[in-house]
Amino acid sequence: MVAASTKPILFYPEIEQREHPGAARDAYGRAMTYLRISLTDRCNFRCVYCMPAIGMKFQPREEHLSDDELIRVVGLFAQLGVTKLRLTGGEPTIRPRLPELVRRMRAFEGIEEVSMTTNALLLSRMAKDLKEAGLGRVNISIDTLDPEKFKLMTRGGRLDLVWAGIEAAHEVGLAPIKLNTVMMRGQNEHEVGDLAAMTIDRPWSMRFLEIMPLEGVGDVHDEGLVTTEETHSRLEERFGPLEPIETDPSDPARLWRIPGALGTIGFISPVSAPFCAACNRVRLTADGKLRLCLLRPDEADLRDLVRAGADDETILRGMRAAIWRKPWGHGLGEGERETVRGMSQIGG
Ligand code: SAM
Ligand code: SF4
Repeated sequence: MVAASTKPILFYPEIEQREHPGAARDAYGRAMTYLRISLTDRCNFRCVYCMPAIGMKFQPREEHLSDDELIRVVGLFAQLGVTKLRLTGGEPTIRPRLPELVRRMRAFEGIEEVSMTTNALLLSRMAKDLKEAGLGRVNISIDTLDPEKFKLMTRGGRLDLVWAGIEAAHEVGLAPIKLNTVMMRGQNEHEVGDLAAMTIDRPWSMRFLEIMPLEGVGDVHDEGLVTTEETHSRLEERFGPLEPIETDPSDPARLWRIPGALGTIGFISPVSAPFCAACNRVRLTADGKLRLCLLRPDEADLRDLVRAGADDETILRGMRAAIWRKPWGHGLGEGERETVRGMSQIGG
C-alpha cells in the first residue's frame, strides 16, 4: 500500500524553535540542518537505475562551482545553522582535491560532521587521506554480491575494487559504514538475504532502497518497484522476525536488526512511506543551485549570486528565502515524478 505523507496545516514557531534555535526554516517549521553537496555530475559508473544507457549529457566544468566558490557557499550554510554535510554526486571521489575540500568544510564553526556517499571504486587509495582530512563516515552503494551482475548493473563496474574500498573504509574507521542497495525487480531481490547476512558479524548498516523514477531511468522503475514490505517479508522468511530499532525521525531509514547481529538493516521507502514530514535537508548541486527537494524542480541559483559579486548578507537572504519556500513533499506516492534532472545531477 502506498502511504500519503501527512502535511501539517499550521506552523507553531514557539514549539518548533525549541530544537535547532536559529536554524533556517521552511514555511512548515522544518529546520534545515543537513546539506547534501553534489561535487560533480560525472561518474565512473553508469548504474542502470541512475543514468540512461545513452544520451547522458554532463555539464561543462566551468559551470560547476570552483573550490573557493563552493567553500564560500558552504560557510554561509554553516552560518544558517547547517551542522551536517554529506558529499555526493555523481561520484564525489572523482572531484580533484577532495581531501582538501573536506578539510576546509570541516573547519567551519558549527559543522559537526562531513560524510560521503560513494560507489567506493577509488576509495581503497583515498580512505586514509579522507579520514585524516576529517571525513566522518561513508555510505557505499553495492547492489549485488555477484561480480557479473555488478558489472551489468553498473555498466562495467568491478566489484573486487569496490570491496577493497569497503575494507579500506572499515580499516581506517570511516564508521559506521552504511551500505546502500537499490532494489530492482528481476535483478537483485533474491539477494537481499545474503546482503543482510553481512550484518550478522559486521557492525555495518545494510540499507535497502526503493527505486525512484528519475529523469532518464523511468523505464527501469516501471519494470517493477520492489517495496520495503516485500523486502522485509523476504528477510523474515530467512531470518525470522527482525527486531525494530528506534530511529531518529529525520533519518530516512527505518532500522531493524537480525536477532543477535552486530549490524543493522535499514529500509528507505520514498515511494511506499515518504519521510517528508521530518525532512531536514536541502541540496547544493555541482552547478551551485540550492535544490529544495530531491524530486521537485524548485531551485535557487546561488552560483549566479556568487559570480555577480553579491556580498554574504545578500546571499544569506536569498538562501533563507529559498528555504522558506521548500515544497512540502516529493509526491512520489501520488504518482508524480521528476522530469528535469536525474539523480546524478541533483546529488542523490
Ligand atoms: N555515486 C555515489 C553512489 O552511487 O553512492 C553517490 C551518488 S548516487 C546518485 C547516491 C545514491 O543514490 C546511491 O546510493 C544510489 O544507489 C542512489 N540512487 C541512484 N539512482 C536512484 C534511483 N533511481 N532510485 C533510488 N536510489 C537511487
Ligand atoms: Fe554513479 Fe552513483 Fe549514479 Fe551509480 S548511482 S551511476 S555510482 S552516481
